[in-house]
Parts: sequence; C-alpha cells; structure tokens
Amino acid sequence: MRPHRVSDSGSVSSRSSRSRPALNNPDDMPDIKTMKRRRRPQQQQPDPHEEELKKKSRPQESGIICRGCSLPLVIGEVVVQIGRLEPEERSYFHPMCVICSQCGELLVDLRCFVDIGWEERGTPGAEERLFCGRHWADNRRPRCAACDETIHQPKQVYELNTTWHFRHFACYICDANLTDASTYVPRDGKPLCMDCYTQHIADKCVACGRAIDASRGGGGKISIQDKHWHPKCFACKMCKTSLKGKPCVPKGTRVYCKKCYKKVAKVK
Ligand SMILES: [Zn+2]
Ligand SMILES: [Zn+2]
Ligand SMILES: [Zn+2]
Ligand SMILES: [Zn+2]
Ligand SMILES: [Zn+2]
Ligand SMILES: [Zn+2]
Repeated sequence: MRPHRVSDSGSVSSRSSRSRPALNNPDDMPDIKTMKRRRRPQQQQPDPHEEELKKKSRPQESGIICRGCSLPLVIGEVVVQIGRLEPEERSYFHPMCVICSQCGELLVDLRCFVDIGWEERGTPGAEERLFCGRHWADNRRPRCAACDETIHQPKQVYELNTTWHFRHFACYICDANLTDASTYVPRDGKPLCMDCYTQHIADKCVACGRAIDASRGGGGKISIQDKHWHPKCFACKMCKTSLKGKPCVPKGTRVYCKKCYKKVAKVK
C-alpha cells in the first residue's frame, strides 16, 4: 500500500514513482489507494455553507468510475488501481470489483492478469479484462472451432486455418470424423465429408442428373447461370459433339452446337 492522491479531475500524484511493468509481463499486483480531494485554489473557494449542504446531501464523486461496475468512485473511499490498464482514468476499481471476468474470483490480494478476452479479439474498441491466473492461461490456449472450448489434449488438428479437438474435426452434417479422411470439402469454415457433399450440396448435372464433384481432381464442372454440367456431359443435344471450350447455344437445360441450332430454329 502506497500513498496516492486522486484529485477531482482524476489526476494522480504519487510520492514514489514506479515504472510500469513491461507489456509482455502479464501479471500485476493491484495497488490499493484512497480517493482524495485536492485542495482547491483560494480564489475558487465556494461558499462554505453551500459546500457543507452539498456534503450532507450526497457523497462527493471523484469524477472517476469503477471499471468493474461503472459506478462512480467517491472521494475518501478505498480504491484499487491496476497499473497496466489504459487509459489511466479507466484503471480504478472498487476492491470488490477486482474479480476474474471468467470465474468471479476476487483478485485484490492475488496476481491479476490483464488480457483481451478471446471472444473479443479483433473487435475494434475491445477493452482488456481481468483474469485469474488459471483463466488467463485458458484465454491464451487454442480454441476448438467446433465447440469453442479450450484444447488441453496434446492431440489436436490444425485445419482450415484454425484448431480443432481431434474428436471434433468432423463432417458438420453426419459427424463422421475427418481427421484421417483423404479429402473433405470446406464450407463456411467447416468441413463436410465427400458423401454428404455429393448428397446434399453438390450441383447436379442437368444432362445426366448426377452430382458434380467440383473439388480439385474431381473433374470440374461447366456452368451457365444456374445450370451445371459434367464437362463430359456438356455436348450438343442433337449431334452429341462435345461443346467444351467451343461456341454453343444454351436453350434451357439443353445446349446445341451452332450448326444444329440453325436447324432447330428453322423447324420452329
Ligand atoms: Zn465497482
Ligand atoms: Zn478465473
Ligand atoms: Zn471441440
Ligand atoms: Zn458427412
Ligand atoms: Zn452429367
Ligand atoms: Zn450439334
């Protein structure tokens, strides 16, 4: 406990100046202080009677709010400062408000860890929160993209630019484990087994009605607006010539070569 003065305007003066811990040092012992009023300059001294009335009617607010509960801190009350929190005026707490944001454990007499919560990482304007040692470590551990829980097991999967529990890297439709699958289809950051992809997701060829495997090495597909063909099925309806990479005339689910289309058009 070291003496500090917190003035009405929120400025802090300290008899001993302590250098801030380096930012990569995660822990910080909370600093216990007392909210104090700085003596006002003589010329601004308000009417003493009025001042007395004010004191009786309500506690004197310091102009600083508790970062934990957002209630104003009152002059004369014991407060706790977490030196690593920025900005300065947002680093004060009621002693009872210095708790782990995860489990609610009181941290006043413990090492107090400061970090952006994993849910808020990358969110603009996200503020650092307080953590107990255990939950700070948890907050730093990789998370499973399927269940959002931290991964403690040594066995984990790194796929689709993220981490997964070994057992949770599975098809999101049928739940088949894909850890050892030779191939899978990524969809919206989730894996899909080839069977489910073919059955539920893959485009169907308008010529033969079968699913089109558009994955790498799957043969590819030819699309005209919302209609799709196997490349081998993309042929003139009349003369059966392959139209892959050639000029063609699409008519509904059919395609014609230019020659055949002239005949079809004449008949009509
Ligand atoms: Zn509070
Ligand atoms: Zn905790
Ligand atoms: Zn999981
Ligand atoms: Zn599946
Ligand atoms: Zn086909
Ligand atoms: Zn033709």
